[in-house]
Amino acid sequence: MRDLLKKHFGHDEFRPLQEEVINSILQRCDTLVIMPTGGGKSLCYQLPALCLDGLTLVVSPLIALMKDQVDALKSNGIAAEFINSSLTYAEIGRVQEQARQGNLKILYLAPERLTLPDFREFLGTLEVSLVAIDEAHCISEWGHDFRPDYRALGRLRHGMPAVPFIALTATATDRVREDILAQLGLKQPQQFIASFDRPNLRYEVRPKERAFDQLVQLLRERKGESVIIYCFARKDTEELVDKLLDESIDALAYHAGMDAETRRRNQERFIRDEVDIIAATIAFGMGIDKPDVRLVVHQELPKSLEAYYQQTGRAGRDGLPSDCVLFYSYGDKVKQDFFIDRMESVTEKHNAQRKLRQVIDYCQLRKCRRRYLLEYFGEESIAQGTGETESESCGGCDVCLAEREEFDATIIAQKVMSAVIRTGERFGAGYIAQVLRGSAAERVLRLGHDNLSVYGIVDDFSDADVREVCGMLLDKGMLYKNSEEYATLGVSEEGRTFLKNRERIVLSRRKKQKPEQARALTSGRSRESIEHDPALFERLRALRRRIASDDGVPPYVVFGDATLQQMAHYFPQNLNSLSHISGVGAVKLKQYGDKFLAVICEYARENNLKDRTEPVRNSRSMHTDGSHSNGRVYTYESTKLLIEQGFSIRQAARERGLSVNTIVAHIEMLVRRGEALDLVPLLPGNHRLECIQGAFEKVGYTRLAPVKELLGDEYSYEEIRLARAYVRQQNSYQSMDG
Ligand code: ADP
Ligand code: ZN
Repeated sequence: MRDLLKKHFGHDEFRPLQEEVINSILQRCDTLVIMPTGGGKSLCYQLPALCLDGLTLVVSPLIALMKDQVDALKSNGIAAEFINSSLTYAEIGRVQEQARQGNLKILYLAPERLTLPDFREFLGTLEVSLVAIDEAHCISEWGHDFRPDYRALGRLRHGMPAVPFIALTATATDRVREDILAQLGLKQPQQFIASFDRPNLRYEVRPKERAFDQLVQLLRERKGESVIIYCFARKDTEELVDKLLDESIDALAYHAGMDAETRRRNQERFIRDEVDIIAATIAFGMGIDKPDVRLVVHQELPKSLEAYYQQTGRAGRDGLPSDCVLFYSYGDKVKQDFFIDRMESVTEKHNAQRKLRQVIDYCQLRKCRRRYLLEYFGEESIAQGTGETESESCGGCDVCLAEREEFDATIIAQKVMSAVIRTGERFGAGYIAQVLRGSAAERVLRLGHDNLSVYGIVDDFSDADVREVCGMLLDKGMLYKNSEEYATLGVSEEGRTFLKNRERIVLSRRKKQKPEQARALTSGRSRESIEHDPALFERLRALRRRIASDDGVPPYVVFGDATLQQMAHYFPQNLNSLSHISGVGAVKLKQYGDKFLAVICEYARENNLKDRTEPVRNSRSMHTDGSHSNGRVYTYESTKLLIEQGFSIRQAARERGLSVNTIVAHIEMLVRRGEALDLVPLLPGNHRLECIQGAFEKVGYTRLAPVKELLGDEYSYEEIRLARAYVRQQNSYQSMDG
């Protein structure tokens, strides 16, 4: 199977659960697969289709995708076709003939075909060895996307009792899952439910201040890469596009109010990499399968976390690091409330309020966003079985990645709690902030709260900061929530004691970054983007674009970004080397190999680069003089080389024009990767090292802040992080010995 995987799909490894699912099918079991978007569901039936004798039928409601999917299969040398309403009568006839003669391995069908008696008769004449039901949740009325045509699948199942069925979906609650099994009449189905963690996605929420400037900066950082920006209303998409054009940033709008032709054309141009940025309402995305979207921005609050997960899920389907940035302001909630308030049905209204509340909670979160999302989808822990604990950084959300600082919060905490008490413990954090900051809001005046002694006594904290302090006091148990729905606050026993005894309190908050400094961090948690030569990568992308446009297919059908990045890392210079690159299967090697080799060889000649296909990472062709010579960036490698040459952290930082923090982060990453870097010269003296180690032993190795708290100001985060990296390294050596 691995050979088939390499030969036909060009991949070297299976993604989680793929192999198990394929085995289940090959044993002719009915199978249910729940896998997040981008998890690699298609392969689960495409690969068995090659092993099995007859034809595999694939039922999918996403007509717009069928052609691309079939093109992708054909480009891998797999005989595939589709039948849906976009074909003419004659074309359908031709495909049917091919199927009847046994010349097809995979046939995609739109569900409405199954309701036509003639068509069912035609299916009866075929030797079908497998039926795959994509987007299987569409069969259930409990799901979010019920399609009545899917009901015809029950009958199809009946007519083919001996053929294994595989049902696949990215979203299914338990109820929907049960419904799928029942409606399809699956027999003793094997069920595979994959984790919803998307480790290559980095989640970030940013305060919506100077949001447009921030956006422009994000887009400049992601120049040349595909970006989706979700907006609230149709006109917002068009206004945004105009504003971006003023900044010479090319973008297209997409919303349900456009005529179908414009919509189709804009989507097409995005898929074909002719335009990088699309500003869209949520209408956009269902029909797109672009694997290399590197950034999804939400300009407005999503309606629910399900929606958010689904929309952000469109980033990084190819597994490469990608970002999801949400701009949040409390005012946006008010905007949504306006629409919710106009809902007629009371249950619907409550439901919408609850969903929105969860989104707000997500935005205001002071703990890991990834873990919160996963818990929301019913996953206990992000890293089951790996021993990661609750407090371990996920390494891929702004909360976990943020630098934190401690501050004396005694005064502000006293003020907040007094305000909560004086206003009768009937208000939420937003209102408390208004009172403390002396707002002239109508409600404050109406309730006479401008007469309270706490009115207007805070001017060194912004509204958002006060709300944040409220959140921290909630976390500490000094405040509590009176009601989930409106999030009104009360002061707990503990809080009252604190006030009475005039205790001191130190809280930890994120270090503030000015918006113009707030940079997107570019690496996700795992499946690291390989360090590659960006200039060559660009040339390869240009070649890919040319080929794609000649062949009339989307560029990713030729090769994915991950494959091009590998080429720009290993510089393969003959067909054999090229065939080792992940994503290069036998058919594509033959079809495109020479063209790509020509570009790589030329570039290698110009820059005197050797074929590095033997994955020796400390290649001598690497630059030792820092990161930016000749436009090449080998971030980690460069840091590694400098450290190996005996540079101190500070020297390395100066040499590379990076911050000390970044260098330390590189070292941590290198150690995580298992690089045998000699850290001893970088460590603090023995005594300090022991103290740090002692502190870690006491509070655990997962979080830095408590250790810092224990050690006090005399110790820097830098030392602490290095010491931890050192301990990790020693432990990994030990476990290798053992
Ligand atoms: P889904 O249907 O679950 O959303 P797809 O089947 O479209 O996901 O696969 C998403 C991406 O992952 C595609 O670009 C595909 O080529 C890639 N992919 C699938 N399986 C593998 C694998 N074993 N190794 C590498 N890439 C894979
Ligand atoms: Zn996190």
